Amino acid sequence: MRLAIDADVFLFDLDGTIYLGDKPIGRVLDMLHALDALDKKVFFLTNNSSKTTDEYISKLKRIGYNANSNQIITSTHATILYVKNVLPGKSVYPLGTSAFCEELIKNGISITEDADAVLLAFDTDLSYNKLWHANVLLDKGRVFIATHPDLICPSDIGNMPDVGSLTALLTASSGRSPDMVCGKPYSPMADLVNGQINVTADRVLMVGDRLYTDILFGTNNGYRTALVLTGETTLDTLDDKIKPTYVLQSADMLVEF
Ligand SMILES: [Mg+2]
Repeated sequence: MRLAIDADVFLFDLDGTIYLGDKPIGRVLDMLHALDALDKKVFFLTNNSSKTTDEYISKLKRIGYNANSNQIITSTHATILYVKNVLPGKSVYPLGTSAFCEELIKNGISITEDADAVLLAFDTDLSYNKLWHANVLLDKGRVFIATHPDLICPSDIGNMPDVGSLTALLTASSGRSPDMVCGKPYSPMADLVNGQINVTADRVLMVGDRLYTDILFGTNNGYRTALVLTGETTLDTLDDKIKPTYVLQSADMLVEF
């Protein structure tokens, strides 16, 4: 067993890279166990802000991988870090799941109706009234923060409208674009990752299925990048604008078994 691409730190996207729905993709479990056996550092980076860290740990456990909480980095964490650093003590009005709101409260961020900032997360329970209230706050000039830019989230029964699409709706109705987007490929996510690793950027490999989030995140930070063809991107949609270092059929090809 040897590595097809050597690095010290491996950053993996989840949806479309490690699993699709509840199914691991190919031999990704054998690949992750091989990286563990070689003492490589492995992190999972997801823009999906609808679930808590514990829910990701449970999901990975269900498919057969034991991750610890330090290995899970989500756009929710990046958003919390950003709000605490840039808007300390300010209140927020979240459009998010109860899991998202729980994480805000756990981190001491107060939630109110007449808030200083609108936080747009992947709210799979979104109601018209919440959108309306967010629009009213944006019209009053409150800070506009989105957890991530993804337009859709793939699922086993079809694509789900994601935060990028909800952002487009609020931009159309309020004339406002987000003041900050926190997940991949933007800097709040990078601040989180770089705070946890102590190797030079060229020893880091970012592995993901999406060019405008995963691969751009890697290139923005000087990491090497591996695009996998098991999710959004196909060879036909590859272009010259965002160029991965490597293209792999699937993430399990990182290891030669
Ligand atoms: Mg993905």
